Amino acid sequence: MKLYIEIAYLISSILFIVGIKMLNKTQTARKGNFVSAIGMFIAILATVVQVRAITLIDIFAGILIGSIIGLYFAYKVKMTQIPEMVAVFNGFGGLASLAIALSDYWLNTQEGLMAGYSDLIVPISVILSIFIGGITFTGSMIAYLKLNGKISGRAIVFSGQHPLNLALIILSIVLSVFVVINTSDPIYILLISLLSLVLGVLLVIPIGGADMPVVISLLNSYSGMAACATGFVLSNNVLIISGALVGASGIVLTQIMCKAMNRSLMNVLLGGFGQTAGSAGSVDGGSDIVVKEVGVEEAAQIFDSVSSLIIVPGYGMAVAQAQHAIREMYEICEKKNINVRFAIHPVAGRMPGHMNVLLAEANIPYDKLIEMELINDDFSNTDLVFIVGANDVVNPAAKTNPNSPIFGMPVLNVEKAQTVIVSKRGMAPGYAGIENELFGADNCLMLFGDAKQSITKLVNELKEL
Ligand code: NDP
Repeated sequence: MKLYIEIAYLISSILFIVGIKMLNKTQTARKGNFVSAIGMFIAILATVVQVRAITLIDIFAGILIGSIIGLYFAYKVKMTQIPEMVAVFNGFGGLASLAIALSDYWLNTQEGLMAGYSDLIVPISVILSIFIGGITFTGSMIAYLKLNGKISGRAIVFSGQHPLNLALIILSIVLSVFVVINTSDPIYILLISLLSLVLGVLLVIPIGGADMPVVISLLNSYSGMAACATGFVLSNNVLIISGALVGASGIVLTQIMCKAMNRSLMNVLLGGFGQTAGSAGSVDGGSDIVVKEVGVEEAAQIFDSVSSLIIVPGYGMAVAQAQHAIREMYEICEKKNINVRFAIHPVAGRMPGHMNVLLAEANIPYDKLIEMELINDDFSNTDLVFIVGANDVVNPAAKTNPNSPIFGMPVLNVEKAQTVIVSKRGMAPGYAGIENELFGADNCLMLFGDAKQSITKLVNELKEL
């Protein structure tokens, strides 16, 4: 029986790895998700058949209730709310690791099932599982509350914050030594659990709400590491492998996001992004950029006269839910023999892959979605760039203004196109809170209004031409 279970775990692990690989490309991402889900199903079955303490009916009742709740949220949560949903998932993953490790510790040390642990691997894994799991739980809950506005998204800082965090981490390490040398007294492990929960709060409160997607990706990695440690506690190979996969992919994603924003992870974790904005074009005091406005009719005529068009989607497209209107526009332009492509910046929107997911949902062909590095040299040969709710990712200050908080962030070279039309509601800044001189450039025209409404009107005009 044990052999069959290990084989099932091995198959699950392979399916997880294949699934993650398939998530790499938009074309195969859906199937990748499905392959991973099958892997998870096999892993659950192989685990369930080993359980003796409760009945199969209890287990399947739990799975059913969990699945119904999961399905409900999968349908209800909007695309723009995905980061906060992921935060909740990570948090519960961390809490599960903490609870499992704590109960294993309890069973082994208090009820005399074993005379304590026989080697160091298990107590160290228990400590890591509890410590990382606790930080992940409360840290993710704070990230969730900040993102959905239930608490202020502003960075909460106080003097001595970082030394306090360091002192708590050192105290946890000292307590861990006590756990290892005196496994039968629960006080030390309970204190570590408490400290980890406090640390989760303290580590996330100084980070501004807008940096939360990066933090969530990091907490995702922590939840994987906690699960991996729990795998060692339970001697469960599939948990060790899947935890390691989540831990590694979370950290890789965090790095990608930091690189795409030209920020170091330390800079994100210590908080305070945008504090230099005042000296670099913050719009707090109002913008003095002079812009040229364009109406829908005139914009439609410009569209009708070009042969190449690059559409640049941004966070505002997600807010306006303009992707379906954009698909209609894309189809009309294609019929008019305009070469239409989409330029995808790696951190456009509020989560990695945000734009790809929305455009794919609207059935825009995958081969039209071109990554920044591949399209950036083509702007100078392009007649028209249409920017839909993007701001920071097209801000030339990232290339020209060393005082700008986004200086050094790779951006799309939209200003090089012959004409640029920007669809946004007003002159509000984007995530970085800074103004964008592109909007005042000679070749730039502003199409003010909600993106979905503007594009719907534009489509109607284009149909007439
Ligand atoms: P921005 O946040 O820079 O700008 C979005 C713009 O959309 C705003 O200026 C806003 O202007 C406009 N907008 C809002 N609602 C609408 C609407 N209904 N119709 C039309 N326009 C609208 O978005 P970008 O995508 O350019 O940049 C993303 C930013 O987020 C980057 O700074 C990135 O670093 C950051 N970020 C991204 C992460 C990711 O993983 N993708 C993670 C963390 C941060 P107005 O209100 O005037 O309409």
